[in-house]
Amino acid sequence: MNQKNGSTVAYFSMEIALDPKIPTYSGGLGILAGDTIRSAADLRVPMVAVTLLHRKGYFAQAIDSDGWQHEAEMPWEVEKHCEELPACVEIYVDGRPVFVKAWRYMVSGATGDSIAVLLLDTDLPENSSWDRTLTDHLYGGDSDYRLCQEVVLGIGGVRILRALGFDNLARFHMNEGHAALLGLELLDESARFAGRSSFNGEDVQLVQQKCVFTTHTPVPAGHDRFPFDQVRRILGRDDILENHQVFCCAGELNMTYLALNLSHYVNGVAKKHGEVSRKMLVPKDSEHHYSIDHITNGVHLGTWAARPIATLFDRYVPGWREDNASLRGALAIPAAEAWKAHQAAKQRLVDEITVRAMASFDVNTFTIGFARRATAYKRSGLLLHDSERLREIARKAGPIQVVFAGKAHPDDEQGKQLIRQIVERKETMLPEVKIVFLENYDWDLGRVLTAGVDVWLNTPQPPMEASGTSGMKAALNGVPSLSSLDGWWIEGCVEDTTGWAIGNLDSTLSDDSDRDSHDASSMYQTLENSVIPKYYEQRKEWTRIMLHAISLNASYFNTQRMVQQYVLKAYYA
Ligand SMILES: *Cc1c(COP(=O)(O)O)cnc(C)c1O
Repeated sequence: MNQKNGSTVAYFSMEIALDPKIPTYSGGLGILAGDTIRSAADLRVPMVAVTLLHRKGYFAQAIDSDGWQHEAEMPWEVEKHCEELPACVEIYVDGRPVFVKAWRYMVSGATGDSIAVLLLDTDLPENSSWDRTLTDHLYGGDSDYRLCQEVVLGIGGVRILRALGFDNLARFHMNEGHAALLGLELLDESARFAGRSSFNGEDVQLVQQKCVFTTHTPVPAGHDRFPFDQVRRILGRDDILENHQVFCCAGELNMTYLALNLSHYVNGVAKKHGEVSRKMLVPKDSEHHYSIDHITNGVHLGTWAARPIATLFDRYVPGWREDNASLRGALAIPAAEAWKAHQAAKQRLVDEITVRAMASFDVNTFTIGFARRATAYKRSGLLLHDSERLREIARKAGPIQVVFAGKAHPDDEQGKQLIRQIVERKETMLPEVKIVFLENYDWDLGRVLTAGVDVWLNTPQPPMEASGTSGMKAALNGVPSLSSLDGWWIEGCVEDTTGWAIGNLDSTLSDDSDRDSHDASSMYQTLENSVIPKYYEQRKEWTRIMLHAISLNASYFNTQRMVQQYVLKAYYA
């Protein structure tokens, strides 16, 4: 594996979506990681990626007749997709040596370059039966299991890279705090290189020069924290906890702060998220502040364009895969052609609904799509907040179909309740509003959904959504968003031109239920007065909006532009 003279970036992520048949991702973070690598390969950015193998996958979701979610393992055929590498390294976990090996998956770019992804595996006969399961489940198990996985990813990952000959890496990119322990390994390496037995401030500076950190969520539960006792036991050392400047604070190791302390460049994933992170992530000693930039997320356009849409672009905007910005030219696509391509993508969704849910949807009925991880702040139920109001809108403005999808994390009872409420309510909305909940939201379903609906709905409670990327996939396919002003949509929304906003930017409502009613009412008004009448009665206006979604948003919210910004601001600055 070549290293291009010390310019290679090592990209670490707990989850990476590599292929629809490889369930090693749970949602947005993994899809973004995969899209990042795909665009880096297109752009010939020298990169090697590290993640865990997740042999048992993220879970398969089944919804029973009461609307309750059930989970099953999703084993996948490792040998069929990946090549086993000869390297094996030893790490120390919870008082025992654990051996780690790696599998390689190659991501090929549009210009023939490829990027190696190393998937770490502890399922080796040398390891104890518990240790053999450490690389089985993405976000499974208890907090011990999670910390052990982070040791495998961070420390095991750096050692595997070295064992494979990557001894001159330019940068280490921590995609979220899960990978922060790579910094500890780099500190130890640096001290060893200087002939010292423990690291000091000089090593910290050297490591910072090598590291880049992207934080992905303002939700507190999204930041891993481990009590010192647990860290001491699992890492088998307490020297690090004496180093307060790096490994602070308050009796626990917070992986976000560790990553912040060890990186020279830190960013949030949308403009607003950068601001929110600067306010939220304040050093405990508060003598200095972290400098946190933003690089707004994107999607890999070649991966997410539905076939009829890609064919349309090939005809009217040739070269769009190599030069994503050229999609500005989508405004010149004849409206009738755009509509035809959209209807073909919609027919594909209607067929999928027939097969998956034995429900019959109509290709000429206005259709809303909502697919999100089912969790409180994303407010999956907001569309049905006042279900009578929604039925009345459909009676007046025209019939509505709604497709829901999304998994709840297995431990998120509240999230599971949200799914149950949707399933429970769907019969009561007939005949004006037809609702279906599709199981197992994943890459394949995401592709069909984001291209096949007429409007992509997003209702996070600001400022909790760091970015979101599914609305970018929709925009690429000419599907406008109706979304609260949060994450990427603050940058992407041009009212009545790329879609519509729910609520406003500086709403100062005190409690959550106020905000829900306020946002629901804003959403209903927009649907009733603007979105649905345009869909049914002003086709020309509707196609104008479709083409602006592509032209203004797909040309910018893509991982090609995003990776170029990482190259300039983070990797080689
Ligand atoms: C794109 C995608 C996501 C991320 O979308 P959000 O906008 O963050 O909800 C999650 N899951 C799947 C399967 C996706 O394709």
